[in-house]
Amino acid sequence: MLGLMQDWPLTVDKILDHAADWHANREVVTRSVEGPIVRITYGEIRDRAKRLSNALLGFGVRPGDRVATLAWNSARHIEAWYAIMGIGAVCHTLNPRLFADQLCYIINHAQDRIIFTDLTFVPFLIENRHRLPTVERIIVLTDADHLRTVAIEGALEGALASESLIDENGGDCAWGGFNEQTACGLCYTSGTTGHPKGVLYSHRSNFLHTLVTLQSDVMGLSVRDTVLAVVPMFHANAWGLTFSCPAVGAKLVMPGPKMDGASIHELLETEGVTFSAAVPTVWQMLLAHMRETKATLTTLKRVVIGGSAVPEAIIRAFHDDYGVEVVHAWGMTETSPLGTLSTPTPEIAALSFDEQMPYKLKQGRPPVGVQLKLTDDHGGLKPRDGTSFGRLKIRGPFIAGEYFKGEGGGILDDDGYFDTGDVATIDPVGYMQITDRAKDVIKSGGEWISSIEIENIAAGHPKAFLAAVIGVTHPKWDERPLLLVKLKDGETAEPAEFLHFLDGKIAKWWMPDDVVFVDDIPLGATGKIDKKLIRQRFEGYLLPTATARVI
Ligand code: ADP
Repeated sequence: MLGLMQDWPLTVDKILDHAADWHANREVVTRSVEGPIVRITYGEIRDRAKRLSNALLGFGVRPGDRVATLAWNSARHIEAWYAIMGIGAVCHTLNPRLFADQLCYIINHAQDRIIFTDLTFVPFLIENRHRLPTVERIIVLTDADHLRTVAIEGALEGALASESLIDENGGDCAWGGFNEQTACGLCYTSGTTGHPKGVLYSHRSNFLHTLVTLQSDVMGLSVRDTVLAVVPMFHANAWGLTFSCPAVGAKLVMPGPKMDGASIHELLETEGVTFSAAVPTVWQMLLAHMRETKATLTTLKRVVIGGSAVPEAIIRAFHDDYGVEVVHAWGMTETSPLGTLSTPTPEIAALSFDEQMPYKLKQGRPPVGVQLKLTDDHGGLKPRDGTSFGRLKIRGPFIAGEYFKGEGGGILDDDGYFDTGDVATIDPVGYMQITDRAKDVIKSGGEWISSIEIENIAAGHPKAFLAAVIGVTHPKWDERPLLLVKLKDGETAEPAEFLHFLDGKIAKWWMPDDVVFVDDIPLGATGKIDKKLIRQRFEGYLLPTATARVI
């Protein structure tokens, strides 16, 4: 027997409709690519997005067609999103930090018909236009005058200014009316785990993810919040903020292309921001800027940090110096992206700040709608004892079931869980902690060593700027850890200083077999250490402990 409730497809156009109907005058503030701060409301955004939808329909865009965006966080970018999604086309977010070859591969693989872009990326498109045969039109998120400054005649054939399209088209356009399982967004994994693969979100998955992130133990946003969305819309949908903010009518602040400490601080203060979200490096830049300029934070209450592990120093600085709460989060493109958050349970909340720290450093607990398990390499369950490592697997209505065009084949186990490629522990309170990526974990004598744990401790050495640990082939143990350190400017050090620093903080058999000082630790497109490249650079490296090489 089926229930007798109304059939109301969960499509994301209803989110912007809600914002425009009930919070029409709430602002979206952007530091624009052209420079000035621009203010607009949810009411205006819906009207302008509908005009853009009509422009797309006029260009023959049909449901299921891929329309890409290559743009910074801005109100115009939001308009493009809803214009695309509202008519059942697929919004494909492109990460401009990828290499040109990767971007071209992704655009061609997705068969994007139109690209919305910022002035910033026009040179990339001019240079690579001939490599993008499926792309029929480029729409630059700007006005005709600014477009003229970059797209000199003939250089970017057929480029249009979004403002002209908004002026030329009417705002009468019916959104939605299709199945909630309709594809809505497409985002490729950044390729740190191999060839980029497309994650194809549905309207339903985005809608449910929005509701889940609004739980108070997740992001807990309200209409009273002012949210600075630093995490890019091209990085797993800005962790859902461009859905969850209009869903509750929160004021939204968009940093555009400027994410340095001074620019972020200025927006936090002038706009009265209460909540923000970004990867650790953004906060490191902000904290460094505030220390240098002795600046303060007067309105910010909470920041969600994820994408890579949050160093303790960031949590302490925010808490001790600025009274801001840090919530550590874990997720991935395949999980829409929020999977776990380290919001406290009652027993953890009752502890002192210092006693809470080990839990704040963990990636946290799953909200309802997310199921987790830990397994060994053969699928056997690992206990939730806080020390047993296992492959982290995840299941739920906003977790990828397969990649776009079936790339990579079946990706779920027999019980429908997706293998995250992360290695983790889960403690008896329910906090998950990432100990490594499965391919980075160092397998020494049949046991696993966490490269992340060693590098996090080594990075805390006063002379260290950045540290990375990789497994290097060893004749007796299969692999042994090698520690690479990039020192702070002007510092010199001996390997023994770092080994001494690690001594007592990790198990003896985890001690790196060698320490190498390097000028550069490469980072990938989402700001994470590029271990693949480091492994290539150190291929064949002979550890001092590997001299008894078996012939
Ligand atoms: P990619 O997998 O292509 O690098 P994602 O942005 O999807 O791009 O990255 C997801 C991965 O980032 C996770 O699988 C995990 O390894 C890592 N990650 C995300 N959040 C955290 C975190 N809080 N701590 C440690 N690692 C994290």
